[in-house]
Amino acid sequence: MKSFDVAIAGGGLIGAAIALELARAGMRVGLFDAGEPGREASWAGAGILSPAPESTAMLPLVELGQASLARYSAFAGEVEELSGQRVGFRPDGTLETFSSRHAIEELSTVVALHHGLGLRAQPLSGDDARKLEPSLSEEVEAAVLRPDEGSVDNRALTPAVLEAARRSGVEIFASSDVASVRREGARCVGLGLANEEISAQFTVIAAGAFCGSIEGVADYAPVRPAKGQMVALRSAEVNIQRVVWSENVYLVPRNDGRILAGATVEYVGFEKTPTAGGAAKLLAAAIEVIPVLADAKIEEHWAGLRPDTPDHLPILGPTDLNGLLMATGHFRSGILLAPITAQLIREWITMQRVTIDWERFSPLRFANAPQGK
Ligand SMILES: Cc1cc2nc3c(=O)[nH]c(=O)nc-3n(C[C@H](O)[C@H](O)[C@H](O)COP(=O)(O)OP(=O)(O)OC[C@H]3O[C@@H](n4cnc5c(N)ncnc54)[C@H](O)[C@@H]3O)c2cc1C
Repeated sequence: MKSFDVAIAGGGLIGAAIALELARAGMRVGLFDAGEPGREASWAGAGILSPAPESTAMLPLVELGQASLARYSAFAGEVEELSGQRVGFRPDGTLETFSSRHAIEELSTVVALHHGLGLRAQPLSGDDARKLEPSLSEEVEAAVLRPDEGSVDNRALTPAVLEAARRSGVEIFASSDVASVRREGARCVGLGLANEEISAQFTVIAAGAFCGSIEGVADYAPVRPAKGQMVALRSAEVNIQRVVWSENVYLVPRNDGRILAGATVEYVGFEKTPTAGGAAKLLAAAIEVIPVLADAKIEEHWAGLRPDTPDHLPILGPTDLNGLLMATGHFRSGILLAPITAQLIREWITMQRVTIDWERFSPLRFANAPQGK
């Protein structure tokens, strides 16, 4: 029987970042992925690094997001050094634009909210915003610049983290569908694959939107898929430096010149078909905020499945089964939250305590709650 200090189910960015962190702390780690590691949500995402809350439901996540953002530069640098691969980290800020008649009032509300949360946010007039990003529409009346935010190329980052983990001693097993967690009394003693049992002192479930398919996990991680469609555009006339948000779309510049427009949020089960309606919505909103994108080439259109939870917050930490931990449910922020998730899981496994209070994200919070809302 294969035996590890830690066995991890799921080789997306979350599982890979945890594996790397634990291997760097001297642990023997096995990482098991049902398919090709890194090809689900962590491939499909936009890679925006923004702890600013998109809704009041996300307020409890701000502290964790800020802590993760603060670590990103070091994380990206370490991954590049260990893997020999670039990750497309762009700490260039993000620009949220407002075009309505009430733009100035919206701007003051957003800036006050951000300052109250300790997020740096600079209010700008429409003209000042166009000085930063000249291709913005004349309809943009105001904007807020969040200078500490940025983006990373998650399609480059995830394979680089996997490679860094491999070079640090992690054993990675592709096409290894985890079917169950193995238990002996009140202890979890590893993972069950279709034809093989894996023994481990600690077991971490990081299978993203698919956690529910692993027997013994659904009560701790009632995750459901939230489909997100994205479109990649290319235009010689548009050269945005920062992530640009409007009410209906975000635009993310990549180092290779592509501009990603995203994203829809759809609850349609596990299907990932990119649809005409999804593209139409994203393209209309993109052209509204940067009109010259009307002439851009459409290079790619895809969809991925975000791991959403009943309260839209991640599921992190130990369960009531000794040795079993959850690291999933990162919904719209898993690229941002990867470094802090890896750190907290490593702290718990090596010291049985964590430096940031994660009780709010406990897998035990769903125990008596109605599921699937
Ligand atoms: C369109 C879109 C845009 C996004 N934009 C952003 C953004 O701008 N910023 C941000 O921070 N986040 C963003 N996200 C969210 C982010 O991508 C996710 O939160 C994050 O990738 C989740 O990582 P993960 O490793 O938990 O899941 P995944 O990347 O989905 O990985 C899960 C892995 O588990 C494996 N697996 C599944 N079942 C099993 C099993 N039974 N046994 C073993 N392995 C299994 C899968 O094969 C997969 O490799 C976006 C997501 C989408 C879809």
